[in-house]
Amino acid sequence: MTQQRYRITLLPGDGIGPEIMAVAVDVLNVIGEQLDIGFEFSEALMGGAAIDATGEPLPADTLELCRNSDAVLLAAIGGYKWDNLPRHQRPETGLLGLRAGLGLFANLRPAAILPQLIDASTLKREVVEGVDIMVVRELTGGIYFGQPKGIFTTETGERRGVNTMAYTEAEVDRIGKVAFETARKRNKKLCSVDKANVLEVSQLWRDRITKLASDYPDVELSHLYVDNAAMQLVRAPKQFDTIVTSNLFGDILSDAAAMLTGSIGMLPSASLGENGSGVFEPVHGSAPDIAGQDKANPLAQVLSAAMMLRYGLNQPTAAERIEQAVLKVLDNGYRTGDIMSPGMTLVGCRAMGDALIKEL
Ligand code: NAD
Repeated sequence: MTQQRYRITLLPGDGIGPEIMAVAVDVLNVIGEQLDIGFEFSEALMGGAAIDATGEPLPADTLELCRNSDAVLLAAIGGYKWDNLPRHQRPETGLLGLRAGLGLFANLRPAAILPQLIDASTLKREVVEGVDIMVVRELTGGIYFGQPKGIFTTETGERRGVNTMAYTEAEVDRIGKVAFETARKRNKKLCSVDKANVLEVSQLWRDRITKLASDYPDVELSHLYVDNAAMQLVRAPKQFDTIVTSNLFGDILSDAAAMLTGSIGMLPSASLGENGSGVFEPVHGSAPDIAGQDKANPLAQVLSAAMMLRYGLNQPTAAERIEQAVLKVLDNGYRTGDIMSPGMTLVGCRAMGDALIKEL
């Protein structure tokens, strides 16, 4: 049997990025050897590191390399040093450029409560125990991109701010398909969130999602208005499996869902396009306050690598092994500072990586 080989672009970025990326790469190398999967890693500059070296947050070379790879593993970008640069030179502008350049319209944000970390949640144990949600957020349309947008001056000389929430049928259909396919890989329940009682754009959204459902008879579809969805997420989160929603609602609901778990250092994400490479990255930022001190939790980065294997490279067995190893090191009591609790063993980023490798 010929070995599967994948070209992976690594974007370690800034702050704790390089430390947590190093752990993820070690883990991928071990899993690659075990399952006979070949990874060809190429590292490129992005964010503050790229601004320092080239003056731009997303150099053309970096985007080109990402375009020509099978997947992109990103750590985190940004930091105090670059906070006051003009917008086109800000690290976040690089992130938007990467999404646009790769046509990443689907953002997958899992929020699963790990039994070992249940007390990290601010909600009661009985409410969050067993929560396992995937939020599928539309990423390149809706009110963040719709035209017209801007701040205009009216005839009376008053300023008026405008944004437009707009979706075409094709835009709803393509995110809908990703959501149904994702639900299919999970517990086959999809909840579409909109505001169809008030917004026309949401009526169209609901229409299209309902039509799509006939192609996925094995997936159970429901609809909720966004205000109710926000309430249900904190009241009874276990009712949800997969949620699909538009850019703005998804921005808010995915953070709310993530915080059910209470631990930002544990949360991965995936951004996918029609075809071509997806970007896999932790939800957290570059944590400049602890950078270079071997204090960062590398698990969100490692779980992002697992998402890359499952959703980007279609290697579910490798993904599963990594996820199991993460659970095992937590079972064994290892904790970085951000998830530390009494009676556990405090370890640094590197030692957490070593524990993972040992478990694998
Ligand atoms: P942050 O997520 O970097 O940090 C928030 C808090 O969580 C900090 O106290 C930090 O130490 C802690 N934390 C985050 N990740 C951790 C980890 N893996 N292990 C242990 N502790 C962790 O958010 P912030 O402080 O608002 O932003 C810092 C910088 O990161 C800013 O420049 C911001 O623009 C950038 N940022 C980047 C991304 C991204 O790359 N996608 C996302 C959010 C923020």
